[in-house]
Amino acid sequence: MDHFDEEGKLIIPDKDSIKSELEKRGLKGKEDLHVTQVYCPNGHEMIMSDNAKFDGLPGIKLFLKGENKEDIVYISPFLNKRQRTGGDDFGLGDKLEVRCPICNEKMRVIGPCDCQWNGEYVMLSLDKNPDNRNAVCFCDIWGCPKGDVRLAGEVVAEYIRDYRL
Ligand SMILES: [Zn+2]
Ligand SMILES: [Zn+2]
Repeated sequence: MDHFDEEGKLIIPDKDSIKSELEKRGLKGKEDLHVTQVYCPNGHEMIMSDNAKFDGLPGIKLFLKGENKEDIVYISPFLNKRQRTGGDDFGLGDKLEVRCPICNEKMRVIGPCDCQWNGEYVMLSLDKNPDNRNAVCFCDIWGCPKGDVRLAGEVVAEYIRDYRL
């Protein structure tokens, strides 16, 4: 997609083309964008219909492992909404290993979070093939404001921009 017209002005894509782009990436909804399926690096589905619900939609089931605590946690499938069920024993700033509840595989890290706890963004793939990097991600620190699910591409772009400054 071209981002500038012939005169160098920024082209604002119309809503429908943004929507169809996002739907290709497994995202649904106009106002409340959400993921309908995410996969572990081994291709296991982590959104099942019997998962804990958020505004009526099933959340993302994860196995989170802290230094000496672990729990099954469901996180909201809605982008940019930090809501979770479970993990009551974790404390603010706890660094967590984010694992698949089925095969125990660790989610891949895509980059650092700029939070005070040296968090890292872990990736939840939107494709069965994680190499596509078509993904959403969130910070692996319990309580980090960036613990909501966000588009991996935006996080990487933000990081590159800050790195250049
Ligand atoms: Zn798995
Ligand atoms: Zn963070």
